[in-house]
Amino acid sequence: MTVTFSRPDFYAQWRAQQEARSLLGEPHSAHPPERLLQSVWHHQRLRRDELRTTDGRPVRVLHPGFWNHEAGPDFRAAVVQFGQDEPRSGDIEVDLVSRNWQGHQHDRNPAFSNVILHVLWASTAETSCPSPALALEPFLDMPLAEMQSWAVSGAAERWPESLRGACCAPLGQLSAAQTEELLQQAAMVRFQRKAAELENRARHAGWEQALWEGIFRALGYKQNVWPMQRVAELLPELTPGADSARALQARLLGVSGFLPAAAARPDDYLRVLWEHWWRESDRFRAVQLPKNLWRLNGLRPANQPQRRLALASHWLVSGDFLAKLEDWFTGQRPVTSLATSLLACLQPPPDEFWSWHWGFASPRLPRPQPLLGESRATDLAINVILPWFWTRARAGKNDRLAQLAQQRYQAWPEAQDNTLLRLARQRLLGGHSGKRLKTAASQQGLLQILHDFCDQTNALCTDCTFPDLVKGFVVG
Ligand code: SF4
Repeated sequence: MTVTFSRPDFYAQWRAQQEARSLLGEPHSAHPPERLLQSVWHHQRLRRDELRTTDGRPVRVLHPGFWNHEAGPDFRAAVVQFGQDEPRSGDIEVDLVSRNWQGHQHDRNPAFSNVILHVLWASTAETSCPSPALALEPFLDMPLAEMQSWAVSGAAERWPESLRGACCAPLGQLSAAQTEELLQQAAMVRFQRKAAELENRARHAGWEQALWEGIFRALGYKQNVWPMQRVAELLPELTPGADSARALQARLLGVSGFLPAAAARPDDYLRVLWEHWWRESDRFRAVQLPKNLWRLNGLRPANQPQRRLALASHWLVSGDFLAKLEDWFTGQRPVTSLATSLLACLQPPPDEFWSWHWGFASPRLPRPQPLLGESRATDLAINVILPWFWTRARAGKNDRLAQLAQQRYQAWPEAQDNTLLRLARQRLLGGHSGKRLKTAASQQGLLQILHDFCDQTNALCTDCTFPDLVKGFVVG
């Protein structure tokens, strides 16, 4: 169908067409598209009492798992019972045909080692996945054509209410203010736990070293927390005598195993780094990290650890990093400028190489990119800087500054949304699933509840005590 630009809904129509194509697939295809299978599985649009694996065993799906939109199996933490066996908790992979298990190299990928059921379209004698297989086609709860209409109607996009947690109903009884209070209380537990870790480290290594280690861990994002921690532990050896950002970058990148092996490239930046590193590498050889310690796949260019180390080099050689941070902390700040003022405080001067390149091998960017963005500055504030100021103030018996750190933490505007938070909002807060939480502390509170309760049980919320706790919160 041709969509002309004169129609006011041409974009909406284009989008509807794309959506339909991804759910309906190409005409004359032997199979529906995988996306439709995933939606059928997510909503369990199946005659669920009749399900049998391709080798004939009855199977009950007690929970289909949580749709994983990132790398790895399609659904996480499903609960499935084969015959009279004990229910099993694990992952679900959805593939059109059995041979895709090997074709997509799931058999060689450790991320797929916890797959307990391979969901296919049609029954087959092939078995390429070691786990049992279930074909959906014989068990659809409506004819395929109707299923496709259902899918394109938008119903498949909605999160199934049946997957809400057992705490969703009691949480729904709370007023908005009570929910916020509960999340803030949970957030303070998280804040104090982080502060205690920093204080514990400060007792052995000093306050400043504890702060650097916290900052480096946070710069490691999820994937590279531990190698970044290790580099931070080496800072007392690495920083003395490094009198420029370049000199320190050579050490940080060299000791991390990131310097490309050949220095012969006609690349000024790399040549400068090697001029430093050739002279010093023997000194640091014993503590050099193997490059395979780092997880680089799937990281956005801005989150690559090489870039984060370059950022840290500027802070470390500036000589006034901590003084500027203290000024920022003690200064008067309206809530609305907390994140921007911290970003301004932490933003280093432009770097001749890293402001213009995402990595060693990337071409020069048309415009310089900052080494630090607002969302990372917020993460640093919430996870490291404010807990550190709080616990240091308490250790120094300075109630005013401890109060200030706590107030900033509780008022800090929301951090960047992520898949974990989205799932938590849908699962726990149900009706509020479309809404974002207003403060970073509310988000932290939700994450703390996930840690304390959801992570301790299965997707069915078996024996979770949080619903009772919520009821007690109302009464209390
Ligand atoms: S495990 Fe507990 S906290 Fe998590 S969703 Fe279920 S009832 Fe709620």
